[in-house]
Amino acid sequence: MIYADNAATTKMSEAAIDTMISLLGEAWGNPSSLYMHGQKAKEVLEKAREDVAAVIGAEPREITFTSGGSEADNQAIRSAAELGRKKGKMHIISTAFEHHAVLHTLEKLKSEGFEITLLDVHENGLIIPAEVEAAIREDTCLVTIMYANNEIGTIQPIREIGAICRAKGVLFHTDAVQAMGHIPVNVAEDNIDLLSASGHKFHGPKGVGFLYAKKGIRLSNLIEGGAQERGKRAGTENVPGIAAMAEALKEAAAHMEENAAHQKAMRDRLIEGLKQIPHSALNGDAVRRLPGNVNFCFEGIEGESLLLLLDDKGIQASSGSACTSGSLDPSHVLLAIGRVHDVAHGSLRLSIGEDITEAEVDEIISSVKEVVEYLRGFSPIWRDLMEGKKEFIL
Ligand SMILES: *Cc1c(COP(=O)(O)O)cnc(C)c1O
Repeated sequence: MIYADNAATTKMSEAAIDTMISLLGEAWGNPSSLYMHGQKAKEVLEKAREDVAAVIGAEPREITFTSGGSEADNQAIRSAAELGRKKGKMHIISTAFEHHAVLHTLEKLKSEGFEITLLDVHENGLIIPAEVEAAIREDTCLVTIMYANNEIGTIQPIREIGAICRAKGVLFHTDAVQAMGHIPVNVAEDNIDLLSASGHKFHGPKGVGFLYAKKGIRLSNLIEGGAQERGKRAGTENVPGIAAMAEALKEAAAHMEENAAHQKAMRDRLIEGLKQIPHSALNGDAVRRLPGNVNFCFEGIEGESLLLLLDDKGIQASSGSACTSGSLDPSHVLLAIGRVHDVAHGSLRLSIGEDITEAEVDEIISSVKEVVEYLRGFSPIWRDLMEGKKEFIL
């Protein structure tokens, strides 16, 4: 069995599991209580906050723990929008290939009177900073652009975009869920005002994430209630989960260089192998992409059948984001980079882990080759392409 869907979720690390299990027993108190058990939980919570902050170059009080990436995205964007509304600035800039946690929040804001500009994503899956600059207006309150894309893995020029926003006095949020723990992220060096991250994308637990908000930025509450998280996120904290996330993040940061070097070598081997399949194409820039991300389109086949047959061969992959699998719409990310519907349907995302071996990569390559050939054998689209009734795109 080869798990190649790490962009959907990762397996918890041993250290994160150990931390979580031991704290379920040891730090069960309510961190808001003043007696001993409460204070033990409080200590664990604040240590986790320090650890997370240290990894991204922030101060502990700039970290708010959330239930994951989606909540952090929602809260970051809502907060910036509320601040904008107060100043009469109701224009937001984003891109067409953001995660739905961002896109759907923006749609809601649109219905509340905000104007949204979605920048074009270029064919290589990258945003051009000068185009962000050109889109900024007097009434722009927020630019929100993801650090790395969850489907095609392209890494955006975040530092440059952040510098532009800072110079123009516009808040800058980045959904760094896919980047965190995999490539260096530093909120100070990268000129980031607001950032979202999620534990389960870097070998921490699910249902835990964090929001970084640069000091001075007033967050709006999504959840009203008690005064937890400096009054910005009510609800008794998931102490063991938060501590396990911090443990996983520290571990990922400590091994980032060696992990990335190995993954990049495996990624490039996989890309080279899959390129040999006729009428196929890599989606997104070959170099400016996450160390573990490979995403291909194969002409004349349908992604869902490809996934099912690969699963039969013990290879677990995805056609795009987990959130859209099960729907027949082609990925909004692939459409955003200009893939036409027919081609976007035949997509495959392989997000490999840190511990993948060369033999496993070779097994993936031969299985994909076999399955693509098999499916093309009875695909009417492929027959039309071969008979010249339709033109090849790839
Ligand atoms: C997974 C993911 C999210 C959502 O995170 P959850 O913790 O699952 O809510 C948001 N953005 C991106 C880019 C993601 O990959």
